[in-house]
Amino acid sequence: MSATISIIIPVYNEEAGLAALFERLYPALDGLGRQYEVIFVDDGSRDRSAALLREQFNRRPESTRVVLLTRNAGQHMAILAGFAHSRGDYVITLDADLQNPPEEIGKLIAAMDQGADYVGTVRARRHDVYWRKAASRLMNRIRERTTQIRITDQGCMLRGYHRTIVDAINRCVEVSTFVPALGYTFARHPVEVEVAHAGRAAGQSKYSIYRLIRLNFDLMTGFSVAPLQVFTMFGILVSLLSLAFVVDLAIRRLFVGPEVQGVFTLFGLAFFFIGVLLVSVGVVGEYVGRIYEQVRQRPRYTISAILEEGAGIDTGETAVRPAVLPAPKPHPELDHTEMLRAEHDPGPAP
Ligand code: UDP
Ligand code: MG
Repeated sequence: MSATISIIIPVYNEEAGLAALFERLYPALDGLGRQYEVIFVDDGSRDRSAALLREQFNRRPESTRVVLLTRNAGQHMAILAGFAHSRGDYVITLDADLQNPPEEIGKLIAAMDQGADYVGTVRARRHDVYWRKAASRLMNRIRERTTQIRITDQGCMLRGYHRTIVDAINRCVEVSTFVPALGYTFARHPVEVEVAHAGRAAGQSKYSIYRLIRLNFDLMTGFSVAPLQVFTMFGILVSLLSLAFVVDLAIRRLFVGPEVQGVFTLFGLAFFFIGVLLVSVGVVGEYVGRIYEQVRQRPRYTISAILEEGAGIDTGETAVRPAVLPAPKPHPELDHTEMLRAEHDPGPAP
């Protein structure tokens, strides 16, 4: 039997583009001739997205599942919620704004059929604003130098993960992460394929500059301690140079006599090093803050409801499937959200 597919789509305030997404996604998936399930994760949208997802669930209950998060937890956490509830052998992530054409999913599946357990993608011609592309190029380069993660185009979320990788990701408990990089760390046969990219179908990007910076810090701090080491190296260099400088001053004092010069140079140098110190404290703070979040062990997201029928993928657990299948046990941290779900679950259909 050919591998089953789970498609995971995080949705945050995407009411304007969801209809177009449904229109293209389902025919593209039907055309693949595989058993599939689409898992939409509503990331605490405040517009009509959740209602539209409900409607779509009612239209295609056999192959649609909807996980509704209580509050906005961020794109990567939403994807992790989707992973925890996915059942397919291959799990594919996709943005809801049609920037990743659903018609390209076949390419990822073909690569996985050939043995890849992680399929990254490179956007052939990226359709985003100029500053986003320039910033991405820079961040790709920095990440390439400072981490072991070898992905050409870290920003493209159309990616394929084999069940083995998803299981490994589901065992992780990190509160701040970058899913494509996390998946890569477990991959044995990663490959990359080129995919098309489009401008946003509707609505606006959900990432402000501040959110983008935070996300990139998640990536850097989550997969490398190199930023800390940069400051250690710089500190060692400055110490050695200043030692040489002091020796030089002592010698000049003996042979040239007292000198008072370069007061403003001194100011300049002092401010420069104060700046470097502040940045280094900030970088340490980025790590400490994430450690603090981690040790508090709050749930990474909470689920208010799950809409599912005997979704498209037959788990083989039941011969006669009840109308509402219990979701597979998610991560232990979600235990209390399970109760929430039970409260909201309408129970089996009459
Ligand atoms: N998204 C999400 N939660 C967030 C931000 C974004 O689930 O807090 C979803 C969003 O609905 C979309 C995907 O993540 O499906 C990518 O977001 P967006 O298109 O805004 O990012 P960009 O393409 O600008 O990087
Ligand atoms: Mg987008």
